[in-house]
Amino acid sequence: MDNKELWQSTLGELELQITKPNFQTWFKNSDLIEKGDDYIVIGLESAFAKEWVETKYHKLILKIVRNFEPEIKEIRYQIQPPTKPATIISKKKVTPSQETEVLNISEFNIDPRTNLNSRYTFQNFIVGANNELAYSAATAIIKDLGKKYNPLFIYGGVGLGKTHLIQATGNELKKIYKNKIGVRYVSTETFVNEVINGIKNKRMEDVKNKYRKVDVLIVDDIQFIAGKEKTQEEFFHTFNTLYENNKQIIISSDRSPYLLSTLEERLRSRFEGGMVADISYPDFETRMAILKLKLQSQHSDFFISDDILSLIAEKFPYNIRELEGALTRLLGILKIRKLNPTKQNIENLLNEITNQRVMIVSPELVIKTVGEFYSISEKELLSHSRKKELVKPRQIVMYFLREYLKYSLPTIARKMGNRDHTTVLHAYNKISQELTKNYLLSQEINLIKEKIYNKH
Ligand code: ADP
Ligand code: MG
Repeated sequence: MDNKELWQSTLGELELQITKPNFQTWFKNSDLIEKGDDYIVIGLESAFAKEWVETKYHKLILKIVRNFEPEIKEIRYQIQPPTKPATIISKKKVTPSQETEVLNISEFNIDPRTNLNSRYTFQNFIVGANNELAYSAATAIIKDLGKKYNPLFIYGGVGLGKTHLIQATGNELKKIYKNKIGVRYVSTETFVNEVINGIKNKRMEDVKNKYRKVDVLIVDDIQFIAGKEKTQEEFFHTFNTLYENNKQIIISSDRSPYLLSTLEERLRSRFEGGMVADISYPDFETRMAILKLKLQSQHSDFFISDDILSLIAEKFPYNIRELEGALTRLLGILKIRKLNPTKQNIENLLNEITNQRVMIVSPELVIKTVGEFYSISEKELLSHSRKKELVKPRQIVMYFLREYLKYSLPTIARKMGNRDHTTVLHAYNKISQELTKNYLLSQEINLIKEKIYNKH
């Protein structure tokens, strides 16, 4: 085999073993530069691609290459940039209305039978250290439906890919099993409404039938079921019916089962009985990979160098939705203003975009978010009731206003339904102390913080 044949055969095999976007992103411009007696040198288009391929695919490449040429023991990687100019920008004219069209089109991709959106696939899901566990659990259940990890419970903060992953699992199942199995995706909000309407219109049988006859039930954002007793009851029975029949259940939540505080104990223990996997913040490499994938699949008329892309990746570490949104907006503005993606232009635009986000967090927003988090109304939160389930969230609001927003004690006292300022001080001290020894509480406060800052 000559160099070209060896590399073509290796690529052919690689293409079968990794997802298409990954393949295209990392190996599109790759080449076999040199071959010695027991080593080869592979050229990759950038330092970033080199690092990614080395850490993620080296073993696989070596295995494949050795199938063809067993004497190869070593693979080295070298940067070999493509012969394109650094920045090219499309001269195609795009009007803003065309842009919004591209953004909204995905809403029409929902299959009414499964309620799944076809835009979410494994092929366009980047696997990094932050979601590796959740991803492998999701792919594992495909082969072992209803048995291996049941239920599969995935949790993580806002915009980190929970919906994407669980929907992609559903779509993959449909692809593999075709019409042999029934898959159903539902957001918890929809489920709650269906139960409420079912009760009101005496049509609960319909709701029961709809969800109890599926083979795979995917429930998104289960935290919204907290505090809704009737819905929990119904869900519990649906869950048991499916579970006992070895049907697969996949659940997502913004927090771990331990932190679903107002969840019935019996439901919580069901959740904990399966596989619980978290999704955390993507590291820099993963964010870069996501940006590259997005750039290639949706904005392929743009070429942006890694240097410049990394400016964007650095700005948005906590939320992938924001990261993607920033890229789309940046490219949109570049097109409309007919600018090139130079370092200076991107830096200016990033500042423009992020400045628009900086808003002052209001006490009202804190009160609203904490209320939502614990499923209690604003009125209850501001009331003078001493019920245990109200006291803690109320103290957390006061703590938050003091610690992060630096309001004075009397101002907080007034905002919180005209209390005494010593009450605020007491709440602040109580939570501060509690935080030093209660890990769960610190997790809750982090989640709340994340939600507040993500509302912008
Ligand atoms: P969540 O449900 O956790 O709030 P989503 O699943 O809605 O988050 O993800 C937010 C956006 O980020 C979506 O557009 C999704 O496609 C994208 N996204 C999240 N994780 C990844 C990933 N690992 N690879 C590619 N895109 C991702
Ligand atoms: Mg979601």
